[in-house]
This record gives sequence, structure tokens and C-alpha cells, in this order.
Amino acid sequence: FIGKMEEERRQKVVVVGAGPVGSLAALYAANRGHDVEIYELRGDLRDPSTTPLNFTRSINLALSERGLNAMRHANQPRLIDYVKGVTIPMRGRMIHGKRPDGKLYEEAQDYDIHGRSILAIDRGDLNKRLLDMLEEMPNVTFFFNHKLTGADFKRNKAWFEVKDESTYNLRDRAREIEIDFDFMIGADGAHSAVRYHLMKFARMDYQQEYIDTLWCEFQIAPRAESKNKFRISPNHLHIWPGKEFMFIAIPSEDGSFTCTLFAPVAIYELLESDSSQIPSFFDKYFPGVTSLIHPSDLIAQFQSNPHLPLISIKCKPYHFSSSVVILGDAAHAMVPFYGQGMNAGLEDVRILFDILDKHDRMTNDDSSLEASAREIALAEYSAVRMPDAHAINDLALQNYIEMRSSVLSPVYRWRKALEEWLSVYVPSLGWQTKYSRVSFGNERYSEVVKKSDYQGQVLVRTLVGGVGLPMLAGGLFLWFRYKDAVGRAAYGVFYNFMGMVCRTIHGRRR
Ligand code: FAD
Repeated sequence: FIGKMEEERRQKVVVVGAGPVGSLAALYAANRGHDVEIYELRGDLRDPSTTPLNFTRSINLALSERGLNAMRHANQPRLIDYVKGVTIPMRGRMIHGKRPDGKLYEEAQDYDIHGRSILAIDRGDLNKRLLDMLEEMPNVTFFFNHKLTGADFKRNKAWFEVKDESTYNLRDRAREIEIDFDFMIGADGAHSAVRYHLMKFARMDYQQEYIDTLWCEFQIAPRAESKNKFRISPNHLHIWPGKEFMFIAIPSEDGSFTCTLFAPVAIYELLESDSSQIPSFFDKYFPGVTSLIHPSDLIAQFQSNPHLPLISIKCKPYHFSSSVVILGDAAHAMVPFYGQGMNAGLEDVRILFDILDKHDRMTNDDSSLEASAREIALAEYSAVRMPDAHAINDLALQNYIEMRSSVLSPVYRWRKALEEWLSVYVPSLGWQTKYSRVSFGNERYSEVVKKSDYQGQVLVRTLVGGVGLPMLAGGLFLWFRYKDAVGRAAYGVFYNFMGMVCRTIHGRRR
């Protein structure tokens, strides 16, 4: 009877997109005993003949607590062991620049006073590892080279275009196939087809913005024949801040660094029009880079690697009825400046399944209630996740200014130091920097914003109360005590100033 009951409760879960978010979602669904089918536009990443899409060429990423936490909850201890084995901890930023006397400098800024680090990970390797784990599960089936082309979320049917017919048997050789499902998870990235079809069923608000910035990747090669293969510190995210643009570098296990130039379209157009300017542009704004990447390689990499746009997407809701939900970039693609896009997408998976499990328990094993429980769960998911996804989208946009410019500002450093000092010496206050809350904790992004704004207001009030008010009080005291002398002095300054203005005007007329 139990076997029959479990059989009845098994649902057909279709995941669209086998990127990091879709793969983790499939793992969660498979762990719950559902029949999982994964449909992916491209070929199998693990197959060397599969050409990766250009926009997946962001080779390494910063993985932080939220992504790790979502993987911890995937019930796959080997996944966390794997991640620990292949990541490089980055404990802070390394700011590179040039002093007025022309000397190059590096300045380390730790991310966290408690010594916590974010992790550099090869995005493709993580994705492949997730696919390997899914492959081992008997209730998971892959459909590579399948592109979602249509979906009816009232009848729970979907249509896929099969690109590589040779890998399928005769029955499946149709150009387009139709499938049905109980529940679809759309994790098909920023240009999501699931989201496009969902819009026809849900009253979805949608907003997208391309920022005036392009990105292009470069490689710093490892040192040959040396014990230390890294040319710059492996435990930092390196930044060359250029105020209006920046160059960053993230370490890889083989000793290389993947670097990214983020710059406005006009700068790209300038460099594209005359690539011989590239080395001098780098020498001027990103000092030291041409000694890490030979000028001719810099030009060659700029010319051969794609120049890609950055999109920021907000929408709501993320679901329709009990049939479909969108996660990851499909729901909230963001600019990469907080290193949170993938982390937030992986966190979506944890939060979605927490909510689904909670409502599932309430059905008391009555499979007839499954769909309505899921509908309530998905509505709760959309309501809970929307303010957090919108918050991290906004934070990511704001952090571009922090990375390319504020890191050089004394006010920024002063606030960071003060907040860290308070977090260590007055822990009862519960103060933390915004960065720590985002990257080393799991509290809701919207809460992070509220707490950080509150801390900012307290700091301003303290500054005004502790410094501004005593100065004002001192000024008033001096005024009343030495009114006449101060008045005479002020009148003298005013009289002389006006005299100077009149003489200047008179002189000009002549
Ligand atoms: P994707 O990785 O885009 O995967 C979507 C999958 O769906 C793809 O495999 C695609 O082929 C498939 N697909 C698309 N359309 C269809 C269809 N019609 N049918 C079937 N399948 C389809 N995030 C971080 O957390 N840390 C970082 O440091 C970081 N750095 C970044 C740097 C750059 C330059 C960029 C651009 C992004 C960065 N990100 C970072 C963001 C991160 O790359 C994304 O948030 C993450 O890849 C989203 O994962 P996803 O699975 O939702 O989507």
C-alpha cells in the first residue's frame, strides 16, 4: 500500500535549462522521489564536442554562503566535499593603482573582519559535477539539444524543438515533440522561454534594463616552471578601479586568472575602432596589467573574445497556478557586481523546496490535494521571494559604483572600518557590513537592505550629534561671548570682500 501511495504521489517534474540553477533544482526534485526530466537547449556540457554558448564563458565565479547553503540542503554530502576541493578562497579585494610619483601599488581590503572568504569556482566544472550526480539517479532523464518552443500551463503541455536528431530514436525524430508534465521549473536563463510563455497565463509585471556597460574576458596565464604558479595573489579578487570602468581578475586552480573588462559602450567602440590603443589605455587606467598580459595578447584577446551586454530583469509573480515556476536568471537576471546572480538562483531552489515541503506535509499524504497545495506554495514563494530578488538586483547595480570607484573613497573605508569595529567590540549591537550580510549570511536580501540603511542612518545621526552639534554649540557660544569682536571681524571680512569685488568690476570696465 505504501509503495502504491508513493507511486501516486510521484509527480512528473520537468526542468527547463541545465545550468547551475536548473541542475540543482532537478537534484532537489529527484531527492523527493519525483520523476524528473531535464530539457536543455545545448548539448551535454560534459561532451567535449559541445560548443559552449558565448555568454556562458564567464569561466569562474564567486560562490558564497547562499549558494553553498543551497547545495548543503541538496542532501548530497559529496557535492559539498567536491566544492571544498576545487575552490580557491578569496578573502578580500586587492586594489591596484598608481601613486602620483608613478609607483604601482596594491592595497588589500579584506571582505570580512572575521576572516570569512568567498570562493572562486570554475562555473563549467560545478555544472558538470551537478550533471554527474543527476546522471546517477534512476528517476532523472536528460534531454539535451531540446529547445522549449511553446507551453500551455492550463493543460500542462510543452513543445520542444529537437536540434540533434541523430541522438534520438526513430519515434522521437519529429522536429518538434510534445510532452506533458505535472510541474515545470523554468531555469532557462535571462532570455527565458518559460518566462515568455508564462506571461501569457500569469498577469506578470516585467521590467528589463540593459546598462551602458559591456564585458569582455581576458586570461592571465600561469607562471611556467615555478613553485608559485600565480602571478598575483590567488586569495584576492583583484580590481583595477577606473572610476567609470574597471578591470577585475579572479583566480583559477591552474594558476591562471580570468579577467573581465567592464566599460561603457563608448569605450568599447573607441578600442574597437583602433585596437592599437588598447595597451596604452590599459597602462593609463589599469596600471600593471600589461606586465601580466603581454600587449599583443591583450589586443588579440580583446579582438577574439565577445563583447557582451549586461541585463537586469525584475518581474513578478514567478508562477502560474500549480503548473510552473521560474527560478534563477529566468526570474531575476542581475548585473554581476555583487557576485550574487548564481548564488541567488541557487538560494531560490532552497527556498522554493522549503515552501513546497511545508505545504506538502499539510496534505497529510492525500495525493488529491497535491496540486492545490502546490498552487498555494507557489503563490507563497512568489510573494516571499519577489522583494528579495528585487533587493539584490538593486544592490548589484549599486555595487558597480562601489567596485569601480568607492573602494578608493575615504568615506567608504571609514564606514567599513567603523562597522567592522562595532561588530567585533560591541557584538550585542549586531552590526555587520552590508557585504558581510549579503555574502556570508543567509538573511533575506530585503532584510539586509533594511538593516544596512538603519545602520547608515544611525551613523549619520551619531556624526551629526557627536561632531556637528558640539561644533554648532561651540560656534554659538563664541558668538554670544564675543559678539562685538566677532561681529566687527565678520563686518571687516565682508567690507574688504565687497571692496575687492567692486574694484575688480571697475577695473574691467576701464
Ligand atoms: P544559465 O546559467 O543562463 O542557464 C540557463 C540554461 O538554460 C542554459 O544552459 C541554456 O542553454 C538553457 N536554455 C536557454 N533557453 C532554453 C530553451 N528555450 N530551452 C531549453 N533550455 C534553454 N554569479 C555569481 O553568483 N557569482 C559571480 O561571481 C558571477 N559572476 C558573473 C560574471 C559575469 C560576467 C556574468 C555575465 C554573470 C555572473 N554571475 C555570477 C551570474 C551567473 O552567471 C548567473 O546568475 C547564473 O549562471 C544563472 O544560472 P541559471 O542556471 O539561472 O541560468
